[in-house]
Amino acid sequence: TGINFEKYDDIPVEATGNDVPKPIISFDEADLEPLLLENIKLSGYTVPTPVQKWSISFGRAGRDMMASAQTGSGKTGGFLFPILDELFSAGPAEAPAADGRNPHRSRKAYPVALILSPTRELTSQIFDEARKFCYRSWVRPAVVYGGADIGQQLRQIERGCDLLVATPGRLVDMIERSRISLQNIRYLVLDEADRMLDMGFEPQIRRIVEQEDMPGTMDRHTLMFSATFPRDIQMLARDFLKDYIFLSVGRVGS
Ligand code: ADP
Ligand code: MG
Repeated sequence: TGINFEKYDDIPVEATGNDVPKPIISFDEADLEPLLLENIKLSGYTVPTPVQKWSISFGRAGRDMMASAQTGSGKTGGFLFPILDELFSAGPAEAPAADGRNPHRSRKAYPVALILSPTRELTSQIFDEARKFCYRSWVRPAVVYGGADIGQQLRQIERGCDLLVATPGRLVDMIERSRISLQNIRYLVLDEADRMLDMGFEPQIRRIVEQEDMPGTMDRHTLMFSATFPRDIQMLARDFLKDYIFLSVGRVGS
């Protein structure tokens, strides 16, 4: 399912909030990190979708976002591009102090970006996209989801886990096993938030985001995507986001 850019030119986009930054015009003029720009082009993307134009500029400005955009509108790049642009330019952080009795071989992972998504299929798709955009960079993507062998996933995150794509249940499990720490998280994404709540993940999502070691809203950059905005989603936005911009792409009458 490709993207029909002609159709996108007609789609209404509305951004509301305090001091809304202007969207970027094109990938080339966005002053992206050179490696990210190369990887975007290698992936065959030439023109940013509306959600990508806005989210890249919000990322620059360090603004939180709550976005509603239809399926196929390029939401994955919408959160990966601003996150990777910042991570590539910042470079790898100091290794965190290893915990436990063997300080030189901590088995715990310390991702800096966390993307929560409802299903195995969706997390895998996001992971595949992330791998393309992280190509030749220091950022090591990893993916964990339920219904699959946990041992293999634990070995995978041990090999490197800077950007983690996860379903909520499996992530809670790994946090409880002390194999993942959220203390270094700087970017948090809730993709398909309404679907996660429909699947009954709200307790797990709250456990993750309200973890003691998860940096608070002022110390992380949070992006939420949801097709619908029932009361429980509004409550999550109120609790997880700070001074956010509401982006609505092609919803009205579509
Ligand atoms: P959503 O999450 O909004 O449903 P995706 O991020 O999965 O949408 O994107 C839908 C499809 O469009 C994917 O195959 C993706 O690779 C492609 N795509 C996304 N952004 C662009 C772009 N800027 N240029 C070309 N293709 C794109
Ligand atoms: Mg998606």
